[in-house]
Amino acid sequence: MSFPATRLRRLRKSAVTRNMIRETRLNRSNLVMPLFVKHGSNIMNPVTSMPGNYQFSVDRLTEHCKMLAGSGVQSVLLFGIPEKKDETGDVASSPDGIVQQAIRSLKNEIPGLFVIADVCNCEYTVHGHCGTIINGDVDNDSTLTTLARQSLSLALAGADMVAPSDMMDGRVAAIRKVLDNNNFHNLPIMSYSAKYSSAFYGPFREAAESKPEFGDRATYQMDPANKDEALREVALDVEEGSDIVMVKPALGYLDIINEIKGNFNIPVAAYNVSGEFSMVKAAAEKGWIDEKRIVMEILTSIKRAGADIIISYHTKDIIAEL
Ligand SMILES: [Zn+2]
Repeated sequence: MSFPATRLRRLRKSAVTRNMIRETRLNRSNLVMPLFVKHGSNIMNPVTSMPGNYQFSVDRLTEHCKMLAGSGVQSVLLFGIPEKKDETGDVASSPDGIVQQAIRSLKNEIPGLFVIADVCNCEYTVHGHCGTIINGDVDNDSTLTTLARQSLSLALAGADMVAPSDMMDGRVAAIRKVLDNNNFHNLPIMSYSAKYSSAFYGPFREAAESKPEFGDRATYQMDPANKDEALREVALDVEEGSDIVMVKPALGYLDIINEIKGNFNIPVAAYNVSGEFSMVKAAAEKGWIDEKRIVMEILTSIKRAGADIIISYHTKDIIAEL
């Protein structure tokens, strides 16, 4: 049937029918808040390029998470800034590592909060790359050892889920194996499966102090031009035992999210990254956009594309609206 019998504006006329037929709804359970933790006490260093975000010491992080949980945030993703860095990032596997301390504190004080731990070496290496450098490049297979060790250490500290973000080949299998061998067969892995070598990560590197000292991450992260390769990455991660696959960044990669959701029967996460967040904040500060409406629209579009889980720095600002 066509016009005039069909008029799509009929159902748009009232707010009630608009709500009735809304196809995509954000829920609190969709959102994950990323947070940065560092050594010391009573520290809350603002990240200047990411307004409203901080590097917290464990005590202040715990306090902040109590507030977040009280406002409806159900899950957080932790990134650590260590006191000392080393060549391989092995410092990240210390039982007293900064993220391990944070996990123990959060699980003690806010047991209902779901704590996801990022797994990577870039915050922990002196050179800022995601793995062990051999002959001027990140060596894949030796990095798997450090990633597996780091994952086990985070699991032992009480993490509810680990999220490897390094993009090494074979890391999901290596992590799954070490977790299973140590009785963590029920601990899920959310792998950054299609992580692009993106300029949108700029502000994060200030927050996590993880800027590479030389070169870039193009030898391990994906070329933004590629889609088939994303599907191959996801297929491998699924085969290796990933429970959730992730696309990062989100906004420029909605087609990738959509394609993965359509091709695999697996939960999909999307990371609405620092650059995406900071652009919104900067425009809002200038009064050029309506921040709340823009954020709802952005997050809804990421969910509409197919993401079940959205990791976003906007989480804390928007959770009360959901
Ligand atoms: Zn990394």
